[in-house]
Amino acid sequence: MTISRVAVIGAGLAGLSCARELAAAGVKVQLFDKGRGPGGRLSTRRSPAGSFDHGGADFAARGGGFAQQVAQWTEAGWLARVDDVRHTGVGSMNVLPRALAQGLAVHLEVEIAAIEPTTDARWRLRAHQAVPGLAEEVFDAVVVAVPAEQAVPLLGVAPALAEAVRPVRSEPTWTVMAAWPLALPARSERLQPAAGPLREARRDDTRPGRERVAGVGCRWVLHATPDWSAHNLDAPADQVLRRLLDAFSDTLGVRLARPVHAVAHRWRYAQVSAPLSEPCGWDAALRIGACGDTWHAGENIEGVERAWLSGRALAGAILAT
Ligand SMILES: Cc1cc2nc3c(=O)[nH]c(=O)nc-3n(C[C@H](O)[C@H](O)[C@H](O)COP(=O)(O)OP(=O)(O)OC[C@H]3O[C@@H](n4cnc5c(N)ncnc54)[C@H](O)[C@@H]3O)c2cc1C
Repeated sequence: MTISRVAVIGAGLAGLSCARELAAAGVKVQLFDKGRGPGGRLSTRRSPAGSFDHGGADFAARGGGFAQQVAQWTEAGWLARVDDVRHTGVGSMNVLPRALAQGLAVHLEVEIAAIEPTTDARWRLRAHQAVPGLAEEVFDAVVVAVPAEQAVPLLGVAPALAEAVRPVRSEPTWTVMAAWPLALPARSERLQPAAGPLREARRDDTRPGRERVAGVGCRWVLHATPDWSAHNLDAPADQVLRRLLDAFSDTLGVRLARPVHAVAHRWRYAQVSAPLSEPCGWDAALRIGACGDTWHAGENIEGVERAWLSGRALAGAILAT
């Protein structure tokens, strides 16, 4: 069967990189994402105090292929350097996924509940919401580009892939986004305390192209450690907020003024500590694939690079079928 129509579930970096490769080869691709915008964990949260990059906010390119791609994105004005090895979005981190989604058919706020077979060995998608026309759409192949824990139920139709992904665990992260009327006395704009609940505190408003908001002197994003986040996974958000602001105050060694804005966000599936070594999963007989940061383990390769490489690897496997 010629693969000419593909559904991609998940419009994070992996789903976008896979979809772009397929579309460039003439395949008709449709992406579905339950979020309000593309980007998944490379997302930006708007607030009255300005925007916060509260997920992956910058990333390294370790391999030559990804480094070359990052250089092109930088040339296009979407990315800027934050140090010798890391890049961030210009204006906000989600500039990159938004740019990559341009020209693709992306259906937002659609949560896919199941992949179902048709009588002629193709696939249909069923969503939790009523989506006009979706019941009539038939796909030759389906790509599942979501975190491992969310992929397993969708991959029920491809048991070997579901079994491959099932052991992978994503570590959680509790994150606080907070703004103060004046700059804080921090010795650096990126602090990584050696002990306590915080893994990292990062100043957000001084990064390239970030907006200025009247009455806001600084914006910080605080990420808790995976262990602390796991222990406090179901704690109330206001309690988490207080604990992480106290930890930040201890890190700075000052008593913090009241923030003008502060919210806590829980990433249930933030980062994969032990990804699979294969670049992606592809069941050529069923024409179901899986990609994302669950895949493509390599020395020091971080999640964003794995997601991009994995999406491309899966597109290559689909096109070779
Ligand atoms: C706090 C934090 C800090 C991080 N720091 C770094 C870092 O420093 N460096 C780095 O490289 N990486 C970092 N990462 C990880 C990086 O963001 C991810 O590895 C990468 O973005 C994963 O991309 P992905 O496309 O595989 O998955 P995602 O970005 O998770 O995309 C999956 C998409 O699928 C959608 N989805 C899920 N289920 C469904 C469904 N049933 N129906 C429809 N849509 C669905 C989701 O809405 C999401 O948009 C960080 C992540 C977090 C949360």
